[in-house]
Formats: sequence, C-alpha cells, structure tokens
Amino acid sequence: MSNRRNLGSELLRLTHLRPGLTRADAARELGTGTGTTAEIVVRLLADHLLSEGEASSEGRRGRPTRPLLPHPDGPLVLAAEITHEDWRLRVVELGGATLAEVGAPHPSHSPDPVLTAVRAAARTMLRRFPRRVRGAGLAAPGVVRDGHLLEAPLLGWRDVDLRTAWPRSPDLPAEAVLAGNDARCAATAESVRGRAVGARLALHLHLDAGLGGALTTDGELVDGAHGSAGEFGHLPFGDPARSCGCGARGCWGTALDGAAFARSLQQDEPHDPVAFSHRVLDRARRGDVEALRAVAEIATNLGRGIAGLVNALDADLVTVGGLAARLHDAAPDTVRAALEEGSMTLRRSTPPVLTSGAFGADGPLVGAAELVWSRSWKRLERSRGAG
Ligand SMILES: [Zn+2]
Repeated sequence: MSNRRNLGSELLRLTHLRPGLTRADAARELGTGTGTTAEIVVRLLADHLLSEGEASSEGRRGRPTRPLLPHPDGPLVLAAEITHEDWRLRVVELGGATLAEVGAPHPSHSPDPVLTAVRAAARTMLRRFPRRVRGAGLAAPGVVRDGHLLEAPLLGWRDVDLRTAWPRSPDLPAEAVLAGNDARCAATAESVRGRAVGARLALHLHLDAGLGGALTTDGELVDGAHGSAGEFGHLPFGDPARSCGCGARGCWGTALDGAAFARSLQQDEPHDPVAFSHRVLDRARRGDVEALRAVAEIATNLGRGIAGLVNALDADLVTVGGLAARLHDAAPDTVRAALEEGSMTLRRSTPPVLTSGAFGADGPLVGAAELVWSRSWKRLERSRGAG
C-alpha cells in the first residue's frame, strides 16, 4: 500500500513537470507496468488531483492516448515575492501555470503594512479558490532562516517573521507554509523547470537590489550549515576601499549595483538603485554611448566574478537572473570575454554554459511555488478522500 502511495506522489510530480505526458510515458518514467500505472491514474483522477485531456492518436501503433493534465478543481499553491519596492502574489496550479496574480508597490517601508497587504491578498485568493490551496511560499531579499528574514539591509528590515504574511486557515497548516531567500528560490526554479535541468553543478546568480544566488548539485540546492549558502554578492571581488551594507568591505555586489552604474556615469548615488540600473540598461539599448560604456564596465565586473566562482566550484552551468540577465543580454560578449580572461587554463578546456535564466524577474516567484510543491506530494496523496 505504502509503495503505491509513493508511486502516486511520483506520478503527480511527473505530471507537474511535464503536463500532457501520456500513461505510457508515465509507466516508462516510473518503471512500472501499464496495469499498475493505470490503477494509480484512476485513483488520482477520482481524487481530482489529475484529469485527462482529449484523446489523440499520436500514441504508439496509432493507439489513442489521452494526456495527463492538472485537474480543473485540483490543488493550488500560493507564491509571493517581496522585493525592495513592491510585492506580488500568484496562484499556481499543478504544472506551473498561473491562475491569478496581484501585486502593488509597498504601502510603506516598514514590514507590517507590507505583510498585511500580502495577507489580505492571500485571503482573497483562498476565498476565490475554496479548499484548493495546499501551501504557500514567500521569497524575500536577504538572509532567511526558519521562516524569519534575519537581515535585509536594502529593505531596512531585521528579524521579521515572514510566516505572518499568510492568513491563518485550515488550507495553510504550519507545515505547508515556507519562506526563502529570493535568489535561492530563483535557483530552484532554474533547476526544477528552467535552464539548469540536468546540470551537474549549476550556479545561479540573481541581481536585484543586491546580488545573491545558489548552487544546485544534480538539482538539489546546497543549503550550507544554516540554510543560507549563496551570498555570492559578498565575495571580495569589488573595490577593497568600498564598504557594503552587510558590514564587510570590497564586496562584489558593490561593483554591480545601481551605485556602481552611477559611479561609472560619474553621477550621484541614486535614490532607487534598481530603477536606476534599469534606466541605464534602457539607454544602452537605445544606443546611448555613455550608457553602453557603463554597461560594458559592469558586465566586465560580472564576468570576472563568475570566472572566480567557476574556477573555485567547477560549475558546468551558470544562469543569471533579474538585472544580471538584462546585463548579460545587453553585453553577452563582454561578460563572456571577462569570464574567459579570468578563467584558469584548466577550466578553459571545459568552460561552463553561461546563459540568462528561463524566468527573468519571475524566478523568485516560480521558485517559491516549486519549493512548496516539492514538500506537497506526499501530503496531496494523504489528503485523498478527505475532500
Ligand atoms: Zn557585502
């Protein structure tokens, strides 16, 4: 019995990653006979966890086959992201599609009004999709541990319990609610359903107000001793004279942020560094020579740092997200040249694939949803018959 339950969880996960797969695909992937697979499918259909689409005759020997899809009344998760300037909340169904999304600029810079706004939006979604939501995940910038945002210098928040962003509801038991660092969430998105699928050691770098990231080995996040590995923005690849909000000097992030763009353009430190960086990248896209020079300088800083990380870590894939994706896409040859110049001879024979991530600015939201799903499979199976 317990074995069957695990197969049910595995089939839910497979359908989540590849909605539209056939029973034959599923049997092959699960390594089970078609009879066993059919039994599991029938049960998951009856429990409104999966549905089957229209039959097509693309199956082997022309036999009609029906694709496995999320059930229209099936399970959902809530995913939210808090950035330095706004919040977003999204309802995600099995398979990763977004059913609804809301968001707004922060009503104030203190945590309570922001978390209250997210909570109100979540409550609205719980009413709109009654008894379907099975978990919730929140991505936030800064160091997150055990559901608490310990330190987010750019938001100015310390010791905030992020779990209070979710309303108390039987749909959201404590074990179904989580919070994570935004860049680590984005790395999860890449490794589960983005460009890092299949990589041995993937490095993801996410640049927003600060630079963060994560490593995944064979799809598994490297946590570190306290769950906060990946603070690559605080490696000393920057100007040793420059101090960083983290308390250290010479951090790499200070060579990539909006203030770095402003220095390159000989302008004052911007009030909103992220918006400033976007504006410089917009100007560069229109061919503005000064902006192009600034972009080249910051893109070189990005490539040099990536080289250092690849030298140390032996990554086979590097994905960049958020502002780093825009920077890479604006000057891919510059980033690549700096990466090559900084690479050990040893690494030059096996250079990593370097690419923008699949999700752009959505990486943290997609990843927050994936972290919730990854904890949900067994619970979904256990809940069968309960509704
Ligand atoms: Zn720092």
